Amino acid sequence: MGANDGGGGYDYGNCPCAGLYEGRFIEVEMVVAGRNVVVTAIPQGECPLCSSQVYKMQVIERMESLMRADKPAAQR
Ligand SMILES: [Zn+2]
Repeated sequence: MGANDGGGGYDYGNCPCAGLYEGRFIEVEMVVAGRNVVVTAIPQGECPLCSSQVYKMQVIERMESLMRADKPAAQR
């Protein structure tokens, strides 16, 4: 884990097309509990050559846990 590559501390490695993923931050809009929620500052890697996009595993898990909150769990 290199600490000084400028991509927000994330290292995405190489794309299969031989490009090098560049770290950046995006916004993702998702529906949680019936409401539109915009999650900002999602770290994402994008290949400058073929535009393929990758996410870090912990980011995917975080988005999935937000999605899971979509279930009605209001009864106590
Ligand atoms: Zn690529």
